[in-house]
Amino acid sequence: MECFNLRVPACELGEGPVWDPERQCLWWVDINQGAVHQYHITSEIHREIKTGSLCSAVLLCDSGKLIVTLKDGFAYMDAATGSTACLAKIEEDLPENRFNDAKCDPAGRVWAGTMNYCSGQPGAGNLYALEAEHTVVKKLTDITCSNGMAWSPDHQLFYYIDSPTREVTAFSYDKATGTISNKRTIIQIPETQGMPDGMTIDDEGMLWVAVWGGSSVIRYDPFSGKCLSKIQLPVVNVTSCTFGGENLEDLYITTAMTGQSDEALKEQPLAGQVFVCKNTGCKGLPPHKFRD
Ligand code: ZN
Repeated sequence: MECFNLRVPACELGEGPVWDPERQCLWWVDINQGAVHQYHITSEIHREIKTGSLCSAVLLCDSGKLIVTLKDGFAYMDAATGSTACLAKIEEDLPENRFNDAKCDPAGRVWAGTMNYCSGQPGAGNLYALEAEHTVVKKLTDITCSNGMAWSPDHQLFYYIDSPTREVTAFSYDKATGTISNKRTIIQIPETQGMPDGMTIDDEGMLWVAVWGGSSVIRYDPFSGKCLSKIQLPVVNVTSCTFGGENLEDLYITTAMTGQSDEALKEQPLAGQVFVCKNTGCKGLPPHKFRD
């Protein structure tokens, strides 16, 4: 397996990589800069779209449009022009909250969680789902830093990370209704190894967890909780990952500069870069899209 960084600008807080099979490109965001990034793997052309807001995630729609999670809610984004249009407002009464990680589920809903980004106040965040008809349903409350999400290949399970718990949890998931139930802890990351952040799942149902403060992505078996393998990166704060490339066999990994002292950053010249690990020997699943 060969890992290297893409030739793209570094992000302050790179997050939410999404593989776009139709356009053969990778999308990701820089939350703090409110930027959406696009990179075509064959032409190596990079584009940056400024949203003018904090932007925590970019997702694909059936229509070809994009969905972005902005400071004040869900919005459509026109992939060609970058213009946005509000879909649903969220937590307008909570000015210190913003969205964090988001993902589409197998039924075409958008799941997105929030956090207090000013003080990090424990339990201030929630997890929501945006339904096809644009109604928003609250799924979980008392969340501190809503992060990684994944659905099992058979669509029976929902995996979720609230980072400060240092746990990956599993829920039973009902695809038709979007109901989640029967929460249990399946993976625990020791304090010395960092905090789980974003994650993705491969076609064998194994989880790939980006470890903030842990310079790594770890592949776990969610059924035994065992670590199967580890990708080491030259950057301390690793934020998220997704499979991409023509055969979904390459792992794309986002990282951050934020959360590190200037001193520490001197030793991490690649902090904030997007990395790709070619030929992982594993295969991802095509991304779910918002059913619009
Ligand atoms: Zn994250």
